[in-house]
Amino acid sequence: MKNTWSNSTAKKFVNKYKKLGFSEDVALRVYTTQLLGKNSNLVLHGGGNTSVKTILRDIDGKNHNVLCVKGSGWDMADIEPEGLPAVKLEPLLRLKNKPYITDQNMVNYQKRNLMNVESPNPSVETFLHAFLPFKYVDHTHADAILNITNRPNGLKFCKKIFGVNVGIVPYIMPGFLLAKKVYEIYSKNPNVNCLILMNHGIFTFGSTAKESYDLMIKHVSQAETAIKKLKTKKIKQIPNFPMKYSCDEISPILRGLLSEKNSNQKFIVNYRLNKHIKYFMNGKNIKIYSAKGTITPDHVIRVKPFPLVISPKKLSSLNDFQSLAQKEIKNFRKKYLNYFNQNKLKAKEKKTMLDTSPRVIYVQNVGMFSIGNNRKSATIAGDLAEANAKVISSIEETSKYQTISKKNIFDIEYWSLEQAKINKDKKLLEGNVVVITGSTGTIGFETYKLFKSYGAEVVLLDNDEDKLKHIQPDINDLCIHCDVRNKKSVKDAFSLICKEFGGIDILISNAGTASEGPIGEVSDDLLRKSFEDNFFSHQNCATEAVKIMMKQKAGGCLLFNISKQSVNPGKNFGPYGLPKAALLSLCKQYALDYGAYGIRSNGVNADRIKSGLLNKKMIKARAKARSITTTDYMKGNLLLDEVTGEDVARAFFHLANSKKTTGAILTVDGGNIAASLR
Ligand code: ZN
Repeated sequence: MKNTWSNSTAKKFVNKYKKLGFSEDVALRVYTTQLLGKNSNLVLHGGGNTSVKTILRDIDGKNHNVLCVKGSGWDMADIEPEGLPAVKLEPLLRLKNKPYITDQNMVNYQKRNLMNVESPNPSVETFLHAFLPFKYVDHTHADAILNITNRPNGLKFCKKIFGVNVGIVPYIMPGFLLAKKVYEIYSKNPNVNCLILMNHGIFTFGSTAKESYDLMIKHVSQAETAIKKLKTKKIKQIPNFPMKYSCDEISPILRGLLSEKNSNQKFIVNYRLNKHIKYFMNGKNIKIYSAKGTITPDHVIRVKPFPLVISPKKLSSLNDFQSLAQKEIKNFRKKYLNYFNQNKLKAKEKKTMLDTSPRVIYVQNVGMFSIGNNRKSATIAGDLAEANAKVISSIEETSKYQTISKKNIFDIEYWSLEQAKINKDKKLLEGNVVVITGSTGTIGFETYKLFKSYGAEVVLLDNDEDKLKHIQPDINDLCIHCDVRNKKSVKDAFSLICKEFGGIDILISNAGTASEGPIGEVSDDLLRKSFEDNFFSHQNCATEAVKIMMKQKAGGCLLFNISKQSVNPGKNFGPYGLPKAALLSLCKQYALDYGAYGIRSNGVNADRIKSGLLNKKMIKARAKARSITTTDYMKGNLLLDEVTGEDVARAFFHLANSKKTTGAILTVDGGNIAASLR
């Protein structure tokens, strides 16, 4: 493993944070924590923690010895001083001889002794950091350490690699008792400069940030070298054959099966495949080695104690896959229920079962699907599963993968302090996939912002590639260049959405164009083009969306941006109004044909929204056609108030959440009796 310490970067950190009022101790703690966190072979997504013991002055002028230790919710890769809450050190050390304290007391005590009450909760390994008498303490879940400890002769192997300079700690659940055990082992041999925690990770420490960091890299490198020296034998593979269906075709099937009946829970299903995943999942014994548990305990809260493995037969059809997946997911739920029932009896407190859906599904010869309540947690599950796959494959090449007992894994999965890390308040639309066409326009973008604020995963489709490129750096959401008039372009976009998210719940078919002319004089070409833009484009998107929704078997919602033109035509606006009238019929037809599948279809009739479609030039022309001023034209409604893109977004949102409404058209025009529907 490469040591990436740089004196000049370290200096830069010191200068940068000095200006912000932080000491050199903290600046260097931030620097090496980031160095460790950015190395995915050491830690992933919030794993690991670090600390520094330093002095902080309170506002009363009194100096305190404090432990700045990683706070909950922070990731080592991008930690800042705020992510290292300062806890008064003496009170922590006073508990060194206590035989036991409850988790609740531990958390309360740590919180009570924070210098700043608004700091995040200090790590569950705070006491461990406090008890080790070194200025800097580093802790990671390095792959190489997990590799050497998760095997039958792990302990012996560790001793052979590291000799007497390293203390070895048997597996104990994190928390106060582990802190005590680590201190006990350290005290027996105070010459050690590193502690290996069996089936968990590694601690190094030193009087400077560099010393502790160097020791981490040194010991992990030693483990890596020892693994390389072992005799390897490739894992036996199943026959490799192409499937009759693609990942994006089966993703909505899996997503639908994962949503438990009578539950509003929707999952995001993310697909990935690379040579490591392929090698692991196509292993003949995957069902044995993947079922043993995670490589380090805290992964379990993201990926569950075991993945689901589905093995489709050669030449099987999509229907075959549907029935196989249904059977396998049912079996998985049973297996998880058994695991829960067996281990809850041994637990100290009463436990409530979490949902029984897998978080990782391997479909042999197809790829890996990682699952989460939102895109972020699905991606985290995927990254952790991939790290597990790499380490387990490597162990299986040289020995047999072996880890802690299911009971130990259960204790972490159902530990309130671990669950607190992932159980944040659920937003109304979390887990819902929303696709918006014409998303960079006024209405489209307002709609994006509104749905996003309610926790939905929103995909932005647009035909304007430059605008998408302009927006993309500022948002974390998937932007796809798509011409909704082109069937292939639409199909490709929806395939990508299925790969990334597993399907779709709400389509907001919004893209359109406006063209004018007296209907007796406009060319057929112009009229046909407007039908392509304002009718067939919607049909293209709706057919693809419905196809996916039918596979999910979990309902769905189509929302069309129609226009008041559909019921109340404007003079010389026929080329625009005619396809919009057809679109209103299309909206109703979908409601009629797919209602029985729980798929709803509704529309919004908006009027006079300032946008790319109704631009200044257009407004002038429309005002002129009615012989009024442009201001009067924009406010020409019963409420005498201009209607905005945000108003339309709210109407889409309202319809998306009105679960018993279909075939409805909601008017957003400030009031226009001639255009009113009922
Ligand atoms: Zn740990």
